[in-house]
Amino acid sequence: MTTKNELKNHLRQQDATALAQGYSPAIRAMEIASIVSFVGLESALVWRLWGNPHTSPWLLLSALLLGYLAADFVSGFVHWMGDTWGSTDMPVLGKAFIRPFREHHVDEKAITRHDFVETNGNNCLVSLPVAILAVLLPHASSGQVFVSAFLGAMIFWVMATNQFHKWSHMDHPPALIGFLQRVHLILPPDHHRIHHTAPFNKYYCITVGWMNKPLMMIAFFPTLERLITLVTGLIPRKDDIGTEAALELFEATSTATPPVVQAAKELLEEATPDETPSVSSARPS
Ligand SMILES: [Zn+2]
Ligand SMILES: [Zn+2]
Repeated sequence: MTTKNELKNHLRQQDATALAQGYSPAIRAMEIASIVSFVGLESALVWRLWGNPHTSPWLLLSALLLGYLAADFVSGFVHWMGDTWGSTDMPVLGKAFIRPFREHHVDEKAITRHDFVETNGNNCLVSLPVAILAVLLPHASSGQVFVSAFLGAMIFWVMATNQFHKWSHMDHPPALIGFLQRVHLILPPDHHRIHHTAPFNKYYCITVGWMNKPLMMIAFFPTLERLITLVTGLIPRKDDIGTEAALELFEATSTATPPVVQAAKELLEEATPDETPSVSSARPS
């Protein structure tokens, strides 16, 4: 079986400076346009919900909470895709989406030097189709209003994700942010540290991280990776950590038992009574 040290020896990472230089003026312009459009669409949605007779505080509160959980999952899913598949050489996607993920593993403090636009532009861009849908959906019943509010809340938290992620990498975040991290209402730094341990293959959720443990217990991402490899033949993390390390890791995780199955086995073993006769009952009377 592959040990962590062997894996670290074979781990190859790309040059941080080259990755940082991939941020072009065209990408920045696209990010600014995305932020402006995102704020406009979210404001339009709030305006539509505000005057709607089907809107209630409970409906909005549950939409906000469920949207938070959904955003945490989406953050994990998108982060996993960016970390695991594709390469920085791919046209359009490579420079705009994959580059930031690869840069983040090589230079995790770079995000703390990114300004508001570079931190939040990407997430605004990917949220735009959902924002348009949330604004255009009919609002004729409580159910429809809830769907719209849920989508609007989810993308609001998706937009906040990189900001929460950035704060988790700061040595001295603002006092209020430090408090929210300590009570685990946003992504705490020590929780996120688990992801930043090579080979970067768990705890992908970066909005608040509440979904990380449940997803790890059911081996959600390793199972998806095995399925994708089976269908496409692609090796996960090949571009991020190098072919050799990626292959070793793939073999190691292919034979691993999901934690929830392991825990169930242990529980069953504990519950099964010991069938070997004890010394006292074996003794002749
Ligand atoms: Zn990552
Ligand atoms: Zn990070």
